[in-house]
Parts: sequence; C-alpha cells; structure tokens
Amino acid sequence: MQYKNTLDFAQECDFNDPLQSFRDKFHIPKHEGKNCIYLVGNSLGLQPKSTRKYVEQELEDWQNLGVEGHFDEQATRPWFHYHKFLKSHLAKLSGAKESEVVSMNSLTTNLHLMMVSFYRPTSEKFKIITEAGAFPSDQYALETQLNFHAYHGGKQLFDPKEALVELSPRPGEETLRTEDILSTIEEHKDQLALVMMAGVQYYSGQLFDIKSITQKGHQYGALVGFDLAHAFGNVPLQLHDDGVDFAVWCSYKYLNSGPGGVSGVFVHERHSSNPDLPRFAGWWGHDESQRFKMQKGFIPMSGADAWQLSNVNVLPSAAHLASLEIFSEAGIEKLRSKSVLLTGYMEYLLNELNSEKEKIRIITPNDPKQRGAQLSLSLANGGKDLFNKLADNGVIADWREPNVIRVAAVPLYNSFEDVWKFVDLLRMLLT
Ligand SMILES: *Cc1c(COP(=O)(O)O)cnc(C)c1O
Repeated sequence: MQYKNTLDFAQECDFNDPLQSFRDKFHIPKHEGKNCIYLVGNSLGLQPKSTRKYVEQELEDWQNLGVEGHFDEQATRPWFHYHKFLKSHLAKLSGAKESEVVSMNSLTTNLHLMMVSFYRPTSEKFKIITEAGAFPSDQYALETQLNFHAYHGGKQLFDPKEALVELSPRPGEETLRTEDILSTIEEHKDQLALVMMAGVQYYSGQLFDIKSITQKGHQYGALVGFDLAHAFGNVPLQLHDDGVDFAVWCSYKYLNSGPGGVSGVFVHERHSSNPDLPRFAGWWGHDESQRFKMQKGFIPMSGADAWQLSNVNVLPSAAHLASLEIFSEAGIEKLRSKSVLLTGYMEYLLNELNSEKEKIRIITPNDPKQRGAQLSLSLANGGKDLFNKLADNGVIADWREPNVIRVAAVPLYNSFEDVWKFVDLLRMLLT
C-alpha cells in the first residue's frame, strides 16, 4: 500500500477496512471523556462487550442450578465440558488439531507442566537453548527446572550453570538472525535436550522462524517448545504442521480474555499416545468415562487433555470463549493482513518523523514476516518523560526499562486513525 502521512488518508483506510466493524465490539477506555489511543493489547487486551453476557450466563446457571450446572440439560454450557467449547477456536488460531490443544491453568504453571514431560535431561543431553532476555517468568522457570533436574539421589547429573545456552544478537544488532539460532543448535547438538523459546519476543517484538527452529532441533534429537504469550492471536500459527512438540500461551494479551485469564497448551499428537511420558497428573486428565469412579490408577485421556489437572475455571473460561468467538468470526488470516498494514503504517509514520534526525529507533525487525503487531521503540535520553507525556494525552503505551516504549496496534480494535494520532502526538512532543 502507498501510505500517506495525513489524517484524511488514515480515515480513508479505516473506511475501507473490511474489519472496521470489530472495533465496536470492544470497550475502549476513556481519557478526559474521549477514547484513549490504546496501544497495549500486547499486555492486556481490551474487554469485548460480549464478555459480560458470557460470564453472567455462568453466574446465572450457578445461581439457578447449583452443582447441577456441571451436567444439567438446562445448563447453557455444562461445566463438565466447558473446556471443550474453546477447542475449535484454539485449534484454528494455532494450526492444531482439536485434540492437540486445551485451555487450563495459567501460563507459567503450564510451562512447568510441559517441562516435566518434555525436559528429560541425561548426563549427556541436558542443555536448553533459549533467547537471552527472555520474559522473567520463563527465565525463572528454566533456571529452577535446571536446578531441579541437575541432582539425582545426591549425585550431580550435569552442571546447571552450563546447561542454559542463551542466544544473543550480534554486537550492534537488536534482534536474532535465524541463521545464528540454527548454528547455535548445531553447535550444541550433542548435549542439547530442549529448545525452548518465545514465538514472538516480548521485548523486541521479533517473530521467530518456528518451523526452521523446530526442524533443526529435531534433526539433532532435541525437543522444541515455544512460549506463545505474544504470538497467539497476534500471528497465524501452524503448530501441527511445523512439528512443534509443545507450546504454551496466555489469554489476556492479544486474546482479550481478561486479567489473569486461563492459559492454554499445545501437545503434538505424536506425544499423546506415549505411555512412558512422565507427567504430573490430576483427575481432569484421567479418562473422562472413569473420572467419577474415583478409583486408583491414572488412565490418561488422549491428546492434550491428559495434561489437565483440575476441573475447569469456568468464569475465566467464559470470558475466554466470548473473545475467541470474535476471533473466529474475524478469522486470523484477515486479522493478520490488517495487522501487517496497520503496523506497516506506524513504521512508515515513524520513519517520516525520523527523516531529518533520528529521534526514535525501532528495534523490532522491519521485515513484516519477522514481527507481529508490536513495535518496540528505543528512545534517547528522557524517554520516560516522553512516555509520561503520552499518557497525559490519552495514549496508553508500555514502558520497559531502560529506554523502550512498546506499542501494538491491534487489528481487532485499533484504527489507522489511532496510529496516525499517536505518531502525530509524538511529533509534537519531540519538537
Ligand atoms: C506475559 C508473559 C508471561 C506471564 O506469565 P503468567 O504466568 O501468565 O503470569 C510469561 N511469559 C511470557 C513470555 C509472557 O509474555
């Protein structure tokens, strides 16, 4: 598209946007009586107007049916089956079979559960490759998993300090090159147990080449998992065809399912019939037809369902369902097409702003195939000051120490006008 730096042009793009009606499905927070320019859907997605109805439905069933809401024919969506109502949507968003995905727990919990099954180090193969500067919760999960596995029966299996291989950009670069990721996998191949990376990196906004990384890991007998917190609902995924072993995500970022919303996991079907996989089980992973017999002896469900521990978190799952139905209505491919244009427009306007003198450096890759909706803007001195002024003017963005503002134009509810106004405000604040 031939972009132009005018409000008229932005409004024309909105007028021609086939997804424009979706914005009205969301509550947009207000600043001094006017809509905010909300650019943090990568942190907490906005509330769909339909969410209240979905949650109230379950409150009503609880009110009217009590415990019978689990099975009763009068229950709108019986709670015993509630996770199943989410599956078709999650499968579409992740390029998975329905049996390969399930919503449950929270993200970091699920990361640990996956690692119980898929990080099984030996004294020869024990290394984990991840990106340097991973989200702190992932760093803590990896660190403590390594410590947990390093010692067995008083003996050291491997040195946990040597086990974590962190990928860093080349000197003077901000993001990783795929060739460097692949060569690092090769370099550590004899000792490599697991590649565990983000899909989209939370800080830089870089989208990694999930397929190539997975193939390379498998070539050397390692398993490959992804944390898709910033990828799910942001970019289309093909987890099944790419052969990914497992993945986890949260639902409160791009998936708009509310603070602390229910997380999800993907387990490739090649693992689902392996009885030797260790796992930490609970009754919701036990064969559904036997679940209420309350007998000894864990019989896993087939597919990702086997990793469920507890009965469904129904209220957050209701919020999740409300949002997922919007995704299915819009279609992730269409959302992605708009997203590429919207983020491309922001990039174009920022480059215009920089045309005389570089004021803002975009550290996110400029190749649309290597990013999602987010742009990470690195600022010179006084970045925090600028960020605060943006907030005073109704722009909600995200500040990360030491000098980065993250902004995401989300195709479900952000407009080209939002993007234009944001950069126009930056221009005024910077001159
Ligand atoms: C948002 C995010 C988290 C948050 O973890 P919770 O368990 O949901 O609190 C973890 N990892 C990544 C990569 C994230 O982006």
